[in-house]
Amino acid sequence: MSDSFDVVVIGAGPAGYPAAIRAGQNKLSVACVDEWKNFDGTYAFGGTCLNAGCIPSKALLESSELFQRAKDEFAVHGIKLGDIKLDLAAMQKRRAAIVKTMTGGITALFKANGVVGIQGHGQLLPGNKVVVTAADGSQRTLQAKNVILASGSTPIRLKTVPHDGKFIVDSWNALEFDAVPARLGVIGAGVIGLELGSVWRRLGSEVTVLEALENFLPMVDQTIAKEAQRHFKKQGLDIKLGAKVLRAEVKGAAVDLVYADAQGEHQLQVDKLVVAVGRRPFTEGLLAEGTGVELDARGFIQVDDHCRTGTTGVWAVGDAVRGPMLAHKGKEEGVMVADLIAGHFGEVNYKVIPSVIYTAPEIAWVGQTEEQVKASGRAYKVGAFPFAASGRARAMEAGQGMAKIVAAKDDDEVLGIHVIGPMAGELIGEAVLAMEYSASTEDIQRTMHAHPTLSEAIHEAALAVDKKAIDSINR
Ligand code: FAD
Ligand code: AMP
Repeated sequence: MSDSFDVVVIGAGPAGYPAAIRAGQNKLSVACVDEWKNFDGTYAFGGTCLNAGCIPSKALLESSELFQRAKDEFAVHGIKLGDIKLDLAAMQKRRAAIVKTMTGGITALFKANGVVGIQGHGQLLPGNKVVVTAADGSQRTLQAKNVILASGSTPIRLKTVPHDGKFIVDSWNALEFDAVPARLGVIGAGVIGLELGSVWRRLGSEVTVLEALENFLPMVDQTIAKEAQRHFKKQGLDIKLGAKVLRAEVKGAAVDLVYADAQGEHQLQVDKLVVAVGRRPFTEGLLAEGTGVELDARGFIQVDDHCRTGTTGVWAVGDAVRGPMLAHKGKEEGVMVADLIAGHFGEVNYKVIPSVIYTAPEIAWVGQTEEQVKASGRAYKVGAFPFAASGRARAMEAGQGMAKIVAAKDDDEVLGIHVIGPMAGELIGEAVLAMEYSASTEDIQRTMHAHPTLSEAIHEAALAVDKKAIDSINR
């Protein structure tokens, strides 16, 4: 096998593997190097997202929601079940099987697109060479015209809350618990903390989420965040805001932690403690001396708007570079870079990146929050539609939440769309497309939406912006 490639990608997560596939589609010779190893020691492509993030978390969110709905909701539909029991081993087996199928799928996609997948650690050397170290220590040097760095991110750890992988754990460990912890502590009420807290709450844990900030979900439109907070409280998630965890230690088979809030210091004992305080770029062992690739003060690989580093022929994408740490953002960057290398057009619209929190109700948004628009000084108008007025949502026993649109007062341009409610993550697709095409609310108003569907909430919210909603009272 030749060791010379048009493109070598380091990292096969959702930023790296699409870059490799698109390079192959562009008829470039391409290798993709990845070192991910699962807890059982096996290599797997797919990075954090497929192995320890997006996919396993969504598998457990789905299973746990069904469990909880079977207990609390089926009777409302007139479905009577006997004693509902949890088989966590089966639930975890399903989660693992989904992950295995999806990561195996990448191997098949590599083959179909002519990508040489190589498992081992990759390091960039000066002169666009990549040295790959296999598990047995053997080394191979690849020469590349272009190198795409897609080394991703890793959980941030707190020095005073020492990780042991058993009692004090990270998000990956928390997806693989083999028993439901009676008392679960979660540090950080961010996306990951809320999703994991929801899974184990639904399966029976008493969950306490400790969040240092006073404000709940500060990056989310605050009308939506307030609504979310109400629902999570009702679900029994004990979210303590303004509560900074100072230290924790494992004592016997439990964790003792100390947190401080406005009232002073408090102690809490839990059976497992998940540290979900964010992620940092992962670049350990990635860059040899003299590559010229620079990191910024927070450890992100420095790139321009087209993901070029300062070194000719070296690019970087995904969680390892600036911007939101989201799989789809990394994917678009990877594809853009592979197209630019091939001499094609490539661009990422960083203004239109959707975000989703897969709780129940789900939360999804794109564009600016009302608070951001207000702070920008631009005159704006707002329309909202409650799912309580949606026939489809009612039929689904999911009449909670709303769709909300913020639009410019002068030219009616849609500036942000925010949804909390059933399938919000799916509904946001229409919003993203609308904003990608710089839609006005009138464009959405004049677009026919099937009835009865959840998507009518977006239609009605657009109508409500001009006080023309049909199915709810205009305020
Ligand atoms: P990664 O997925 O981290 O992949 C990087 C890969 O590179 C890894 O396989 C790593 O082993 C490999 N690597 C690193 N250095 C080297 C090297 N030197 N040599 C060889 N290989 C190397 N995002 C969403 O958009 N939606 C979600 O629902 C979502 N849910 C999440 C849930 C959880 C619990 C977590 C932890 C994350 C979630 N994310 C979600 C975030 C998402 O996982 C990341 O944004 C995404 O994985 C980033 O992709 P990436 O390719 O940049 O990096
Ligand atoms: P995110 O970055 O969205 O994953 O969210 C992580 C959250 O963890 C942020 O909201 C932080 O404020 C919070 N956080 C970080 N350190 C602590 C700490 N020591 N105690 C409580 N919350 C913390």
